[in-house]
Amino acid sequence: MGKHRKEGGHPPKAALLVRNKFVATVVAGGAFAAVGQPMAASAGPEQELLVHPLAGSKNLSLAVTGTDTRPATVRLLASQIVNDSYAEAQKVQKSEAIEQARAEAVRAEAARVAAAERAAAEAKRAAEERERKARGFVKPAEGTFTSGFGSRWGTSHRGIDIANKIGTPIRSVAAGKVIDAGPASGFGLWIRVQHDDGTITVYGHINTVGVSVGERVDAGEQIATMGNRGESTGPHLHFEVIKNGIKINPVPWLNERGIEV
Ligand SMILES: [Zn+2]
Repeated sequence: MGKHRKEGGHPPKAALLVRNKFVATVVAGGAFAAVGQPMAASAGPEQELLVHPLAGSKNLSLAVTGTDTRPATVRLLASQIVNDSYAEAQKVQKSEAIEQARAEAVRAEAARVAAAERAAAEAKRAAEERERKARGFVKPAEGTFTSGFGSRWGTSHRGIDIANKIGTPIRSVAAGKVIDAGPASGFGLWIRVQHDDGTITVYGHINTVGVSVGERVDAGEQIATMGNRGESTGPHLHFEVIKNGIKINPVPWLNERGIEV
């Protein structure tokens, strides 16, 4: 939309300045109508209220040029329209400004809260990480201790079993380096982690592998999820500890490191 609406070569006969856009139609004594004209935003703060004399009202002329020959009551009404329009426009402008400031404040507050939440989550994560490292050792998985180390069904069970749902997180019991991650006979899938003193821990029957060979893991870092793969009679973790090449009973080894299973 242009700054002015020109229609059929009949320019408006009267133009009164108002601030802001609005539409008002008033008929004074059946003689004329005042029509506000909405403007494009680019038209600037000062826009025009156009007063169009109605057909057959040629005796009415400008209200702003000092040569207005309209009756005093009409002039008064016209002037009132302009005053009311000013007031209304200013009210609208003011409430728009308040609304804008309010929206701005809401956005700023939301951004501040989001930043604080991110910072708090990061601090919590860092604190948990420090605690895990300080402890040095964690339980490999939550669940029910279903089988210990030693003879079982005529064979030797060289680890312990912790049963829980498929998908239960399995964590490296201490910091170390992943030396095996993938398929293994009997275990379906396994992960082996070598710790800094050379001890190896084994995690068998896992459902998913979350690390790769050569990767460094922290104590408590999730490395896998619990599964039921290989020679397994239900979802559980088979956990072994190998010290100097020998599979030892994981229970006292864990107990000595503050972990109960
Ligand atoms: Zn087992």
